[in-house]
Amino acid sequence: MKIGVLSLQGGVIEHINHITKLGHECIEIKKLEDVNGLQGIILPGGESTTIGKLLRETKMLIPLRDKILSGLPVWGTCAGMILLAKYIEGSDQEHLKVMDIKVKRNAYGSQINSFKKDVVISEISNQTLPLVFIRGPLITEVFGDAKIICRVDDNIVAAKQNNMFVTSFHPELTDNLEVHRYFLNMCK
Ligand code: GLN
Repeated sequence: MKIGVLSLQGGVIEHINHITKLGHECIEIKKLEDVNGLQGIILPGGESTTIGKLLRETKMLIPLRDKILSGLPVWGTCAGMILLAKYIEGSDQEHLKVMDIKVKRNAYGSQINSFKKDVVISEISNQTLPLVFIRGPLITEVFGDAKIICRVDDNIVAAKQNNMFVTSFHPELTDNLEVHRYFLNMCK
């Protein structure tokens, strides 16, 4: 398969390395044409306000939104999750607004207090997965067709809605490939 990682800002190369290790091609998406022929796209962690602005400036915001709404598999990690959420608490920043979740930015751990937690997410794998949180968003509401995939200490940190998948943690920053494998299965 051929997967793309939105490469306007944020942690791109780690996702590319993980997808490549799983034996699939992975490219950087810098403009709309790069999305042609992809089986799935990843919106990386970074700064969601910056990525949202750059999506608008590169004229990708609306076309990418349309592609996701027509079924293109997408996985948003951290800032990527914020971009996909229909609602962001207390913010009117530009974003894709496609998934039936409400998120709260910077709600889970501060930059200096990044933390790791070992969790089994039965939907994804029977292995224990190391979840890394870096100033991550929390999902404060799940409605419509969205479903909760993982909670940590009562906080919702992963959700799925048809072709859309979001995690407030960063599997690309660990050696474990299970979450990437799970997303590739969504792209088949
Ligand atoms: N706090 C960032 C934002 O709101 C997300 C942090 C991350 O992606 N690691 O965009």
